Amino acid sequence: MQFIPFSPLIDIGFWSQLSRNKIEIYKLDDAERSLLVKTKINPYPEKTSQLYLDIYSFQDDITINKSGPFEVYSKISFQNYNTIEAYQEFDHLDYAQKAFQKMIESFSKDEKPNLFPARMSIFADLKKYLFYFKLIVPQLQIENIQNVLQKNLTDYLGEQNQKFQQQLSLIIQQQQNEVCNNSFVIVNKESFQFVPFKEYQQNKQEVIFIYFDSFNQSQLNSQFNNFIAYLITNNSFKEYINNIKIIVIKDALTINKNQFQLKNSIYIELNLSESKIIQQNGQYKAFNIEGYLQEKKIDLKSFMDEQSLAKEAVDLNIKLMKWRLLPELDLEKVQAQKVLLIGAGTLGCQLARNLIGWGIRKITFVDYGRISYSNPVRQSLYDFEDSTKGGRPKAEVAAEKLKKIFPDIDSEGYQLQIPMPGHFVTESQVQSTLDSFLKLSELVSTHDAVFLLTDSRESRWLPTVLSNAYGKMCFSVALGFDSFLIIRHGISLKKYNPEIHGERLACYFCNDISSPGNSMKDRTLDQQCTVTRPGLSFLASAYSSELFVSLVHSPLLDGTPASDNPEQLQQTDLGILPHFLRGQLSDFDIRLFYGRAFKNCVACSQQILDAMEKNPQSFLLETLNRPDVLQDISGITEELTLNKQEIHEIQDIDGDDDCSVLQIIS
Ligand SMILES: [Zn+2]
Repeated sequence: MQFIPFSPLIDIGFWSQLSRNKIEIYKLDDAERSLLVKTKINPYPEKTSQLYLDIYSFQDDITINKSGPFEVYSKISFQNYNTIEAYQEFDHLDYAQKAFQKMIESFSKDEKPNLFPARMSIFADLKKYLFYFKLIVPQLQIENIQNVLQKNLTDYLGEQNQKFQQQLSLIIQQQQNEVCNNSFVIVNKESFQFVPFKEYQQNKQEVIFIYFDSFNQSQLNSQFNNFIAYLITNNSFKEYINNIKIIVIKDALTINKNQFQLKNSIYIELNLSESKIIQQNGQYKAFNIEGYLQEKKIDLKSFMDEQSLAKEAVDLNIKLMKWRLLPELDLEKVQAQKVLLIGAGTLGCQLARNLIGWGIRKITFVDYGRISYSNPVRQSLYDFEDSTKGGRPKAEVAAEKLKKIFPDIDSEGYQLQIPMPGHFVTESQVQSTLDSFLKLSELVSTHDAVFLLTDSRESRWLPTVLSNAYGKMCFSVALGFDSFLIIRHGISLKKYNPEIHGERLACYFCNDISSPGNSMKDRTLDQQCTVTRPGLSFLASAYSSELFVSLVHSPLLDGTPASDNPEQLQQTDLGILPHFLRGQLSDFDIRLFYGRAFKNCVACSQQILDAMEKNPQSFLLETLNRPDVLQDISGITEELTLNKQEIHEIQDIDGDDDCSVLQIIS
């Protein structure tokens, strides 16, 4: 008798499910687990008997009720190692010996013998999409099997063909959805009716074994050896051992005209009275063990398109943080954030890059400017080409470049002039100003977080008001020459509840007692541009993205209280949640600050919110043409008259650039 080894036929779905399990479930746990594998008759001539692994191999049970070809399911053990060294160290020969021993011991008692004690060892190099594996299917070798008789099955059955077919059909229905780890059943010799093992033991009757082979040629699959070992070891079969009758099904059992095609199937009678399990030097001799020990390598890169590879790789990089360092990281929550960046300059470009590093998938840019010759060296999403021929619009290019870096991102850019207090609107500009206002309102309302990254104070005013009106998280990031400031704005008054949120935190404008005005008037060139040390925007954007991700981890989000005592600051798994951060490059210092919301704030007070909601368009146009109106509405004018004495020390900072805010705070 000749035998043919098993060889794995692994679907790509298996590897991608393994990757997902490794990242999301197993992580660093490399315990031994089980895999569900199947064998079935392949109608095409092959050199091996195939063992199928696919996406369903990770399930515990067969959940899909299959009809058609007969499939035999087995549970095998598998181990997915953390390191290639641990994977290589596993002693497969030793495993095979132990498996043989366990299998033979079980033969004398087990009703359902496990003839398939296979094991798969895997090392998955997920960064490179390389999978190394060894599959070992321990099969014994038997000597002295005497083949007494062999016939084509249909010849043997003759007139009993119909009866056999009916019973076979019933057996398949019964056995189809069981995990058997063996591929034989016992039937009555005359009726072909299924005989449970216990019934056979109690009432010894003449039986035939039906063995479902997974190989359609004349050789048998190698599991047949273990089957023979079972027959000669289990005492129940002793009285028939010199004439064991076996029907070997070797056809893919599809029913055609209510008949199984059985042209390759055979009937054999074996005399096993002299048969023995082969041993050498006290070790069981394994069939084809060399073949199973061969390491196989799968390179999945060639099967995946580059875009999904990039997506998987980015996800993996982030998820790795969860394994050891931050198991509490809520990546789904972070990645679901839709972020609106007002300003696509040094800060906007770099912040966007940090956010995609965190896996954020929705980033929208708003910027009115075009890319100038000086921009590409500092603004990390642009190159020289973008600055030529008058320069391309920043917002649009920034969105385009993000997609080039990471195609899976949903990124858009809008070239939009933000209406600003003190930037007078002429009659002819009214419509376009209102259009911009409506677009900006829509953008704020459809995002979760707004970052104010522009280089003038007045351009931050309307987005601050809108964030407050729509209840969105809002951050201001501002740069001086060698200092930066990051503020997370206090929660919107629409959501604010003092009992939950404590004292409401200040916004970017809460420290001001004047309205933002046109800061570009009467400025020299160096005053008009933000002149900063080149490393500053990278530092500031890095701190702001990390503050944002920390805040997302706080259940109260932007309603998370703060304190002027750093030890009393709220904590998430990522650390403390300060209110202001002020960094100073000259002494490499970062300090934390805290400020309460100002009840007469020109941007975030109830009065401004009410005015905006009552008649947004006329409130806006009035503010743009006469910024002082903000002081009147917010109640500052009144406060000033009442408390002139108290606040005269605070300087009017109207017209100053971002650094003025720093001075006020310090
Ligand atoms: Zn405010």
